[in-house]
Amino acid sequence: MPLPRRIQHCRVCGAATAYRIPPDDNRERAICSACGEIHYENPLNVVGTVPVWGDQVLLCRRNIEPRFGFWTLPAGFMELGESTAEGAIRETAEEAGANIELLELFTMLNVVRVGQVHFYYRARMCDLTLAPGPETIEARLFREDEIPWEELAFRTVRQTLEHYFADRRAGNFALHVGDVS
Ligand SMILES: [Zn+2]
Repeated sequence: MPLPRRIQHCRVCGAATAYRIPPDDNRERAICSACGEIHYENPLNVVGTVPVWGDQVLLCRRNIEPRFGFWTLPAGFMELGESTAEGAIRETAEEAGANIELLELFTMLNVVRVGQVHFYYRARMCDLTLAPGPETIEARLFREDEIPWEELAFRTVRQTLEHYFADRRAGNFALHVGDVS
């Protein structure tokens, strides 16, 4: 599958890059036409939570692109210097202002098309405190029959919610690993 050629300019000197296969490599990289810097690109991790209060799940309505105005679980790009669990807690605090107790890793979903891996942890809300950050229009709790399935922002969110409600009905939560096209 051809990947997008995202790097147009060198991150070191600013000159134009060209995609070529470096010596002793086996795939195209953005190589600087001036200084020769090779720009390696690798998948990014997205970390988030399924915050639960009783029989309700917390969703956030996005105040940013992509998918402005659509509903998502709190999640975002992992930062350097933190673990996946720490990132999931941080994103939940930043996007929803929710205090959570993190539980087990629940889904690990490859999104090969965009070069991402999404990790969602189950989480228990400690209280009903919500203080959405600037990336969120509103944060609110939904029972299963209230979930806005047609207004979810991402397929990984849909899959994670589908697994969550199916596991809850079965009375047993397991780790789900899969690929999203
Ligand atoms: Zn350069």
